[in-house]
Amino acid sequence: MWWTAEEEKQQLRQPDCLFCRIVHGELPSTQIYEDEQCVAFNDINPVANVHALIVPREHVTYLIGATEQHEPLIGHLMRVGARVARQTGIEDAGYRLAVNQGVDAGQIVEHLHIHVLGGGQLDQLGTPLGPI
Ligand code: AMP
Ligand code: ZN
Repeated sequence: MWWTAEEEKQQLRQPDCLFCRIVHGELPSTQIYEDEQCVAFNDINPVANVHALIVPREHVTYLIGATEQHEPLIGHLMRVGARVARQTGIEDAGYRLAVNQGVDAGQIVEHLHIHVLGGGQLDQLGTPLGPI
């Protein structure tokens, strides 16, 4: 087993979580950045010319589950998003950092992550799919 019982008890890793398995090296990804707090890799199904994901090593399921103790981590993830944007060459033209929270936002992976989107004009932010 690649996580300790203590880590699982503290919910730092979830055994069936796709992104836990990626950040701990059990599943492959196209990694573009890593540090002690997070990993960044290319989205497997990009919706923009540049589409990367910033994923904390710690398992946090939802943004709404984040606590005060996560504030430094979330700030760090945003700064890494900016760094990855610079690294991928989209800093000057502009880009978007986004978190999908829950069903209406289309969250499919239940491990907090930040999308880095750019490399061309993006759609209007938050365009509803149906009537409002
Ligand atoms: P979200 O809708 O915010 O939960 O986004 C999850 C993202 O993870 C989607 O854009 C997926 O394309 C992406 N994704 C799912 N599986 C993988 C994977 N194995 N490697 C990289 N990205 C993935
Ligand atoms: Zn996870």
